[in-house]
Amino acid sequence: MHTHTTSVLSPEDARSIAILEHAGVLQAHDGSKLETGNGIILITCSDGDKILEFLEHIEELIREGGGKFRPHIFAGHGGAMLIAEDCPLYRRTHADKFLLEQIADAHEMKDIKTVILMVHAPCGAAKKGNIDVVQELAYLVRAKKRVKEVMPQLTVSSFIDVHFANGTKKIMFVSPDAFDAWYQTQAKKAPTARIRGLEDILIHPDLPGNIL
Ligand SMILES: [Zn+2]
Repeated sequence: MHTHTTSVLSPEDARSIAILEHAGVLQAHDGSKLETGNGIILITCSDGDKILEFLEHIEELIREGGGKFRPHIFAGHGGAMLIAEDCPLYRRTHADKFLLEQIADAHEMKDIKTVILMVHAPCGAAKKGNIDVVQELAYLVRAKKRVKEVMPQLTVSSFIDVHFANGTKKIMFVSPDAFDAWYQTQAKKAPTARIRGLEDILIHPDLPGNIL
């Protein structure tokens, strides 16, 4: 018998997610804002233990917005973060260029104008690359910018699907503007140790300038 271990969200990543929710970077999704008229191009992690759940969550989003669930899917380990130019995963095989080309062709061949970029946590590919959830979101935000730069005619939304250690799971909208603002604040506060900066916020929540 072959056994496998299911990865569990690390306490550090769980804390980061709580902070980012509080900072408004991760938001409850609102499907009514999604324009999914003719379907979606979905970039997701391949994770076989989670992919059906990702699709369920995406379907919910689309139904909320009254759109048609027509997912045109490109999957690779790590999902949409692979599109960021500086994401270290699958550089040698040019995963970024591959996915950008697939999106362009999907748009052309299927006349789909909406792209959903997705990452998830915990993610085996992120773990393998030593990428924490904050970095994962940084790549996701850069991926979104890159798709918009290359194909400004497309509508692009980004999401993270989280599996908490207690078994609850949810999909959240990722605001690139809120992420950038938050990230810059963190960089100013702790230029040499960003993660320690996060710990300080949690240990001393009442210090001026802290977000909790
Ligand atoms: Zn994954």
